[in-house]
Amino acid sequence: MLIILLGAQGTGKGTVAGILSKENNWIQLSTGDIFRENISKGTELGVEANKYISKGCLVPDEITVSMVEKRLEELKDAEGIILDGFPRNLAQAEKLDEMLDKKGEKIDWVINLETPREEIITRMLNRRVCSNQACKATYNLVLHPSKVEGICDVCGSELIRRADDCDSSAIEKRLEIYDTQTKPLVDFYDKKGIVIVEEISQKINRFAEEACKDFMSKIK
Ligand code: AMP
Repeated sequence: MLIILLGAQGTGKGTVAGILSKENNWIQLSTGDIFRENISKGTELGVEANKYISKGCLVPDEITVSMVEKRLEELKDAEGIILDGFPRNLAQAEKLDEMLDKKGEKIDWVINLETPREEIITRMLNRRVCSNQACKATYNLVLHPSKVEGICDVCGSELIRRADDCDSSAIEKRLEIYDTQTKPLVDFYDKKGIVIVEEISQKINRFAEEACKDFMSKIK
């Protein structure tokens, strides 16, 4: 099973991927997480990627695509994979199709998470993540706070803000890139008939758990 998660920053892709992978024994492949792990370890890839990430820009396709190709090869025996944060533009989507074609594989479903823009910005400002790279639990100061302020419920590590969530010009840039480069992928995959839209919004009291339940019932 290969699933792509689309949705602007702060819609809850990481949370949705976390729930689905835990419940179904699927693997979450988050390009953002791989970059952040490399940045914190100071690897060559991390240093290069951070030049773009810190400004809210996309990491160049040649770096990202080869990183994903390598990881997909490592995960070839996985029961299911959820791609969280990849592809981010048409060129990456086409490369992914080529990679899968070569192996006789295909994308099964694309989940498109939709959240009103004003909620997205608040969510990004209120997002806190576990500083322990092996844990990566995500919280929201208002919607889903940790039991003890600033401390991860799962592993007890310190909660921090993502560096790119602290900079308002980087936030704006990321949303602009989403609108111009990533959103067109909804149409690209819709033409293949594999898109399922799930709304996540505080306004209608609908969160990641319900979106996951609905998605699972639709693909059965
Ligand atoms: P995310 O955690 O998915 O929001 O990703 C954090 C940052 O990593 C993004 O703002 C980009 O700078 C970079 N990034 C993640 N995935 C990709 C991708 N598929 N292509 C290019 N850059 C990416």
